[in-house]
Amino acid sequence: MKIENYIRDIQDFPKEGILFKDITPLLNDPIARTACLKILVNSLKNQKIDKVVGAESRGFFFGMLLAQELNAGFIPVRKPNKLPYETISASYELEYGSDSLEIHTDAIQKGDKVLVHDDVLATGGTAKAVCELVEKLGGEIVQCNFLMELTFLNGRDKIMKHPIFSVLSY
Ligand code: 5GP
Repeated sequence: MKIENYIRDIQDFPKEGILFKDITPLLNDPIARTACLKILVNSLKNQKIDKVVGAESRGFFFGMLLAQELNAGFIPVRKPNKLPYETISASYELEYGSDSLEIHTDAIQKGDKVLVHDDVLATGGTAKAVCELVEKLGGEIVQCNFLMELTFLNGRDKIMKHPIFSVLSY
C-alpha cells in the first residue's frame, strides 16, 4: 500500500504557481485511509492521548479518525467566528497579511496530553498557532502529526520544540 498514490497533485490551485496536494483520493479509499491511520497511530508508540486537536478544515478528517482510534476527545480549531462558545484566538502570518484561529476555552483541561493534527505542514504558521492555543489552555503537546510535510518550506522550524511526525514528505 503506497499512500502517496492516493495524493493527487493539482497545478495552480488555489492560485497560479502553487502545486496543491489533494488528499481527496485518500479520503475516498477506505483501505488506503485505514493504512494511513495505522501509520499515524503507530508513530505514537502507545503514548496516552487525552485530546486530538484538528485544524480547520482538512485537519478534521483524520483528526476525528485518530480521536476515535485513540479513544480521545476531538477538538476543532476553527477560523474566526465559527465556534459558538467562548474562545481564545491566536494569529499567524500569511503570505499577505495575517489570519487567526480559535479554540473553545473549555476544550482542554490543564495537563491534558494533546495530539495536534493537520493534513499538511507547509510554512508551519497554522501548526504554530494551533500549538499556541493548546498551550495557552494548559495542554501538553505529545506530538504534532501530518499526512504530509512540504519540507522545502521549513515549517518544522516553527514547531521544533514538539515531536513531529509526517506520513509523507515532499
Ligand atoms: P502552513 O500554515 O503550514 O503554511 O499551511 C498549512 C495549512 O494550509 C494546512 O491547514 C493545510 O490544510 C493547508 N495547505 C497548504 N498547502 C496545502 C496543500 O498543498 N495541500 C493541502 N491539502 N493543504 C494545504
